[in-house]
Amino acid sequence: MDCLFCKIINKEIPAQIVYEDEHVVAFNDINPQAPTHLLIIPRTHISTLNDISETQTSLIGHMVKSAATIAKQMGFDESGYRTVFNCNEDGGQTVYHIHLHLLGGKAMGWPPY
Ligand code: C5P
Repeated sequence: MDCLFCKIINKEIPAQIVYEDEHVVAFNDINPQAPTHLLIIPRTHISTLNDISETQTSLIGHMVKSAATIAKQMGFDESGYRTVFNCNEDGGQTVYHIHLHLLGGKAMGWPPY
């Protein structure tokens, strides 16, 4: 499968990996939108949020828990951070392997446009 993020998981293309375990890999976004901007991706290829099966809901929970763990390791768990899943074109998704953005290190604005 010609998936950029699967290639990062398989170490076929380089990325600055900051965390990995049995289920997920987290790496620095190549175009950071905050002092810390990571992407947390499942090792299993899932194209969009619409493609998550009932049996994969615990994996999504693990992605969110990993974001909180990394935020604590990076020292902005108390000050705060943002997590984002973009889905399909109107949601701003450009890479079709689900990824949880983790942004931290500054105060975020809202709404996000
Ligand atoms: O949510 P969306 O699909 O737009 O996010 C994709 C993210 O993947 C972007 O933030 C982009 O900078 C990042 N990216 C990356 N490394 C690549 C290609 C894209 O970190 N080689």
